[in-house]
Amino acid sequence: MTTMYYEADADPGFITRRKVAVLGFGSQGHAHALNLKDSGVDVVVGLRDGSPRFQAASDAGLKVVDPATAVEWADVIMVLVPDQVQPTVYEQVIAPNLSSGDALLFAHGFSIHFGFITPPPDVDVAMVAPKGPGHLVRRQFVEGSGVPTLLAIHQDATGDAKRLGLSYAHGIGGTRGGVIETTFDAETETDLFGEQVILCGGVDSLIQAAFETLTEAGYEPEMAYFEVLHELKLIVDLLWEGGIEWMRHSISDTAEYGDVTRGPRIITADTKAEMKKILSEIQSGEFAREWMDEYAQGAPKLAAAREAIAVHPVETTGRELRDMMTFLIPKTPQDDV
Ligand code: NAD
Ligand code: MG
Repeated sequence: MTTMYYEADADPGFITRRKVAVLGFGSQGHAHALNLKDSGVDVVVGLRDGSPRFQAASDAGLKVVDPATAVEWADVIMVLVPDQVQPTVYEQVIAPNLSSGDALLFAHGFSIHFGFITPPPDVDVAMVAPKGPGHLVRRQFVEGSGVPTLLAIHQDATGDAKRLGLSYAHGIGGTRGGVIETTFDAETETDLFGEQVILCGGVDSLIQAAFETLTEAGYEPEMAYFEVLHELKLIVDLLWEGGIEWMRHSISDTAEYGDVTRGPRIITADTKAEMKKILSEIQSGEFAREWMDEYAQGAPKLAAAREAIAVHPVETTGRELRDMMTFLIPKTPQDDV
């Protein structure tokens, strides 16, 4: 069994006695910086000159400085710029301003695990990785709960890396949800696997294929949207509350019979074999290299995929329907500047 830590296991004062720089103010960055500030931690946000996020961070009452100044001032540096730019930011901004005994923190093991960043031996290197999107990390903290969080120690130069990581996790609300101790290797590989085969890649591809199947058969796109996308949340909520048994208990017997007889025809032995292949591409570093190459070339595949999904009928239909749903505030990437 894995070790879990909760509120009582953390020393909240350990992080408030340090100076924390949060680099980046995106999904994770805004949540970490604001939660730490609300926990009484001395925190600054490091943002590039002309960053589109400068206004948002200072409007939120945070102190914002350029990344080099932030690293120089701080003794705890949380790296929350995108994974693919971390090596450059590390070389140009972090490494020249690191001091012996500083702590370098990450929310994902990608850069360290695949060797894109190698910190000097005299700094602590740890991961405090909430298992949820930043917007939820912030919302749950404000509501008094917290997102379960992974803690891993890559390098313990001071002997206090774990105490620091737990205290940081406490500051962002992670110990409320529970902190699971793991390693950089396991976090990186399982995280990539999860997002590729189920959470993002698997689910997105299922939604599109199912929507296309229904609309190509002549069913109305609105019907198809509700069936294959909107209702997904209702089912996921049941899974989240009580696992597969509870979800199957809650749906009709007809739905349950369809589930157990048809599900295995969609996700077949071939699908599982492909999952194993995807996992080995992650483990070998092939995926990481491919993604860094793609980014170095200006991310053409990502750009093409973003253009394609924006005009896919499941998206054009969904945008119109969500605008009519008074119980939700529709979100688009353009709203999140
Ligand atoms: P993001 O893209 O939402 O935000 C990145 C931030 O970095 C933005 O404020 C951006 O303006 C800034 N930035 C970009 N380039 C920069 C540069 N060269 N110098 C300084 N700032 C720069 O990123 P994110 O999704 O919050 O990811 C940050 C880290 O958190 C990653 O390691 C990611 O794997 C990890 N993580 C993310 C999530 C999530 O839900 N998004 C969940 C767990 C872990
Ligand atoms: Mg993840």
